[in-house]
Amino acid sequence: MNNLKRVFAVLLTALTLAATLPPSRAVTQDEIDTLITQASGIQEEQAALEQEISAYTLNISAALDQKTLLDAQIAQIEEEVAALEAQIKDCQQRICVTEVELADAEMKEAQQYDLFCQRVRAIEEQGRVNCWMILLHATSFVDFLSRLDFVNEIMQSDQRVMDDLRALQAEIAGKQKELETERLELETTNLLCQDKQAELDAQREAANQLIIDLQANRAEAEASRDILAGEAERIQEEIVRLSDELERQEEEARIRAEEAAAEAYRRMRERVAAIDDFTISYGDGGYIWPVNSRRITSGFGPRVSPGGIGSTNHKGIDIGGVGYGTAVHAAKGGTVIISQYSSSYGNFVVVSHGSGNTTLYAHMSTRLVEAGQVVEQGDIVGLTGSTGHSTGPHLHFEITENGTRINPLIYLGDYGQ
Ligand SMILES: [Zn+2]
Repeated sequence: MNNLKRVFAVLLTALTLAATLPPSRAVTQDEIDTLITQASGIQEEQAALEQEISAYTLNISAALDQKTLLDAQIAQIEEEVAALEAQIKDCQQRICVTEVELADAEMKEAQQYDLFCQRVRAIEEQGRVNCWMILLHATSFVDFLSRLDFVNEIMQSDQRVMDDLRALQAEIAGKQKELETERLELETTNLLCQDKQAELDAQREAANQLIIDLQANRAEAEASRDILAGEAERIQEEIVRLSDELERQEEEARIRAEEAAAEAYRRMRERVAAIDDFTISYGDGGYIWPVNSRRITSGFGPRVSPGGIGSTNHKGIDIGGVGYGTAVHAAKGGTVIISQYSSSYGNFVVVSHGSGNTTLYAHMSTRLVEAGQVVEQGDIVGLTGSTGHSTGPHLHFEITENGTRINPLIYLGDYGQ
C-alpha cells in the first residue's frame, strides 16, 4: 500500500500542476523545467519499484524451490505411509488366519478332551462293572495284565493327542502374539510417519501462502510501476509538446520583431525621403557626402572656439545649410558601433568600416540606428539638429583612418563656404 500512496502523491502533484495551466497560453521554460524535474522524480520512483519487484521475484523463486523440495519430501513420506499401511493390512490378515487356526486347534482340543472324558468314563464304568469280567475272561494273569496295558495305552494315546493339540495351540498363540507385536510396531511407525506428513503439509501450506503473498505484493508494485510509466510518458509528451510550442512562439516573436524592425525602417526611409532629396556624390577614398549640403561652416584643424562652446582644435568639419530634420547618410557601409547622446556631441553615431576606419555624425536631432546594426552606404543614420555643444543646426562630420582623425575634405570635393 505504501507504493500506491507514494505513486498517488506524485500523480496528485502532476495533476494539480496540469490543472493550474490553462490550455492555450504563453509557454515558459520554467514550466518545462518543472515538468522535467517531475519526470525525473517519477523515474527515480520507478527505479525503486523495479528493485522491489526484482527482490519479490527472487523471494518467490526461493519459496518455489522450497515448495518443490517439500513436495518431494511429502511424496516420499506418502509412499512410506502407503507401504506401512500395506504391511499393516498384511499383518492383520495373518492375524486373522492365526485366529482361525487357533480357534480350530481349540475346537479340536475340546473335541479330543470330550472324547477322552467319554472314554475314561466308559473305562471307569467298565472298570467298576467289568474289572472282574476282564480278569475272569483273561486266559492268564499275563493276558489280564496285557488287557490292562491295552486300556492304559488307549488312555496314554489320548493323552498324547491332547498334548500335541495343546502344543499346537500354544505355538499358534505365540505366533499370534508376535503378529500383534509386529502390528503395534507398524502402527506406531505409521503414526510417526503421519505426524511427519502433517508437519510437511503445514510447511507446504505456509510456503504456498508465502508465494501467494509475495505474488500479490509484486503485482501491486508492478501496477504502481505501470501507473508511473504511464504518467512519465504523459509528462514526456507534455514536455515535447510545450518545447515545440515554446520554439514556435519564440520563432513567431522573432519573425514579428524582424517584421516590425523592417517596417519601422521602411517607414523611416519613406519619412526621410519625403523631406530630403538625397543625391549621392562620391569623393576619393570611397566616401560620399553624408548630407546633401556642400557648405562648410568650419573646417578641420585649429580655430577660434565657435560661440565660445566649440572645440579650438577642430577634429572634423561642420556642414551647414542643412536646417533641422535633414537626413544624415552613412558615408560608407559598415557596422554602427556607437549610437548615443553626449553633452558635447549631442546625439551622435559612429560607423565602423573595418581596419580602424570609422565615420562620426554629431549634433543630430534624432538617431535612427542602434549599435550593432549593419548599414549600407547611403543608409540614413539620423536627422540633422543642434544637440550638444552646437550654436545652430549643422552636421559635425569626422573620418578616422587607422585610428587617426583626418580632414574629410581630402576625400570630399565639390564644396563651398
Ligand atoms: Zn564641428
